[in-house]
Amino acid sequence: MSRYDRMTYRRSGASGVMLPLVSLGLWHNFGDVDPFATARASVRRAFDLGITHFDLANNYGPPPGTAEKNFGKILKRDLAGHRDELIISTKAGWDMWPGPYGNWGSRKYLIASLDQSLKRMGLEYVDLFYHHRPDPNTPLEETMGALDYAVRSGKALYVGISAYDPEETRRAVEVLTSFGTRCLIHQPKYSMLVRDPEHGLLATLAELGVGCICFSPLAQGLLTDRYFKGVPKGSRASKPHGYLKKDQVTEEVRKKVLRLNEVAKARSQTLAQMAIVWTLRHACMTSAVIGASKPKHIEDAVRALDNLRFSDDELKTIDRILAG
Ligand code: NDP
Repeated sequence: MSRYDRMTYRRSGASGVMLPLVSLGLWHNFGDVDPFATARASVRRAFDLGITHFDLANNYGPPPGTAEKNFGKILKRDLAGHRDELIISTKAGWDMWPGPYGNWGSRKYLIASLDQSLKRMGLEYVDLFYHHRPDPNTPLEETMGALDYAVRSGKALYVGISAYDPEETRRAVEVLTSFGTRCLIHQPKYSMLVRDPEHGLLATLAELGVGCICFSPLAQGLLTDRYFKGVPKGSRASKPHGYLKKDQVTEEVRKKVLRLNEVAKARSQTLAQMAIVWTLRHACMTSAVIGASKPKHIEDAVRALDNLRFSDDELKTIDRILAG
């Protein structure tokens, strides 16, 4: 009954859709290589804490497709009566099946992939369908035309883009608008360790009235206590299929995060909590999509929202640490 009492929801750009400040992504920890019971417990805990948005993609697993399949199982078992309370997204744009039609941005690939995603999740429609990355070799009109078709055919309620730079974003939004379809949201990589969206993208999205949901706000776990003492067993960097590689856990990063941890402590937060709310300090940041290997990570993230404010001094100190 208390599901919606504590979570804050922010509007996605100039649209009618509100998203929770923290969303849950199923890139890692929800594939067939992962324990289903933990995945299920994480999704259930997230929803009970007011996280209404779950972010997937065709290729999440491993093997690719299994995160959608497992999420479909959880939906059926636990959330079937709550479909209208959920925003479920998926994407296509990376390598998914062999041959020339299983990747990038053609209409052929995008629509076939969306149909496959719907089947795997057991859904009639997704709330949000993304083009996962720009395709330099397919006319933008074709890719955006496929997104427009996804909406018009009822397979998706909204569409978005990911990893498009500011200029590509502007053109994609123009083309979609010319078809009469809104670009709901952009999903860029953004964290204390990856600040590219600050150089043009956030301003462009604010100007265009497009929402923003940043991925990997914890830099895949680097901005947590996970790697304070090296690479522990069971962590993403320790797994052969993890996208975070051991050699990314450098001494330089470790020194920086230990200093950031001191700033977090002074705010009575963990480093992970401070890192999440730091991404949300922009008014145009609709949500931060986190990953979690256990329900406790989700609880920590939601608790972070108790302190969203940063003093100028804190922000300056963080900038100094990041620059040093
Ligand atoms: P994060 O940066 O939030 O990293 C998540 C990892 O951080 C967890 O798996 C866990 O690592 C660790 N972690 C989380 N909370 C805590 C905590 N409280 N204490 C200690 N460690 C913690 O995000 P992801 O990289 O997982 O990405 C999030 C989502 O973003 C994806 O699931 C996906 O939906 C989306 N995404 C989109 C992309 C795109 O191209 N559009 C690309 C990549 C991601 P551990 O597993 O080691 O416990």
